[in-house]
Amino acid sequence: MYKAFLIKYGEIGVKGKNRYIFEDALIKQIYFALEKVDGEFEVTKESGRIYVTSITEFDYDEAVSALKNVFGIIGICPVVQIEDEGFDNLSEKVIEYIDKAYPDKNFTFKVDARRARKNYPMNSMEINMEMGGRLLDAFPELKVDVHKPDVLLSIEIRNKINIYSTEIPGPGGMPIGTAGKAMLLLSGGIDSPVAGYMIAKRGVQIEATYFHAPPYTSERAKQKVVDLAKQVSVYAGPIVLNVVNFTDIQLAIYEKCPHDELTIIMRRYMMRIAEELGKQSNCMGLITGESIGQVASQTMHSLYCTNEVCTMPVYRPVIGFDKQEIINISEKIGTYETSIQPFEDCCTIFVAKHPVTKPNIKIIKQHEHNLDEVIDDLMKTAIETTEKIIVK
Ligand code: ATP
Ligand code: MG
Repeated sequence: MYKAFLIKYGEIGVKGKNRYIFEDALIKQIYFALEKVDGEFEVTKESGRIYVTSITEFDYDEAVSALKNVFGIIGICPVVQIEDEGFDNLSEKVIEYIDKAYPDKNFTFKVDARRARKNYPMNSMEINMEMGGRLLDAFPELKVDVHKPDVLLSIEIRNKINIYSTEIPGPGGMPIGTAGKAMLLLSGGIDSPVAGYMIAKRGVQIEATYFHAPPYTSERAKQKVVDLAKQVSVYAGPIVLNVVNFTDIQLAIYEKCPHDELTIIMRRYMMRIAEELGKQSNCMGLITGESIGQVASQTMHSLYCTNEVCTMPVYRPVIGFDKQEIINISEKIGTYETSIQPFEDCCTIFVAKHPVTKPNIKIIKQHEHNLDEVIDDLMKTAIETTEKIIVK
């Protein structure tokens, strides 16, 4: 019975003159989300409202689930739109609407009329009263409840008239592309895809970097990261995934630095390279899935040492979350099943039996000097040979 959706958006409505930027970004992202849905759609804006209108037959459930993934949307209202052909016509259409939408008439309701144009011959109050009366005449089982109605029937008088009574919650947040871009360090684990999702939710466009170490890490481990990027892109839009060959750097560290500091030193080089790649593509920050105390490399001391090489802000949205809280989000966003596939990533190959938990920055820097002769070339090669995959 529905051919269109009325899209409600929250925070972005209050951005003054920048509002059109937000609306346009939202529209672009809605089109992106609907690409995978059976059917064709047109997305339009009209004075503070965005409409998704189907121009072919379409799969309703698929369309709703796609729209539920679009950041910036707070509500998705399946709407019936009619031309203004007088109040009698309107009430016929409303009665028809209620009849179809609610086969069982045992509920309470309230009419909530609003006029966006004041030349309509009745005011909102009068519409509420008169429409309420006509509905009660048509369906005597109905009851009015103005405080807590089961069904809140909205009638919006605009150029056309909108009739709707359901609001499916959207994800909230801000439309992708309204807040600049950041570089996500994406591993095959549970945490980093969640971190990317959380930052993308605030409107940030995501680029990603994955460090692999062939032949120590397999092609399958890389594919797992591509799959994760693809799942994040459902929400974040197309993602450029940089795949950095990290093998020679890891081997050099392994050869020249104390083994209990391997992970920290390796993490510092990851941050340096990710930041360099980020600069090349205008990123304004880095994103990691670090959480305080989760492993040796994420104690406060370790984070201090890792962070020390970064000049860009590093966003760590899951920093205060327990593992289970992160898992809950990963299940919700659909990355969990992929994240738990058992393919080794490069961190697990070169880990020491007893990594330092309280690394000392001075000592770490001293040991990094062991790499002086080779590291510049290795970094340069790693950056230059980075493979870029566009994932969507
Ligand atoms: P898990 O979910 O198992 O904790 P993880 O990869 O998030 O996996 P760590 O190995 O402790 O956990 O890494 C911490 C953070 O460092 C990750 O969240 C990620 O942002 C970054 N990172 C780690 N390894 C890589 C890698 N191979 N490529 C890109 N980023 C990585
Ligand atoms: Mg982790």
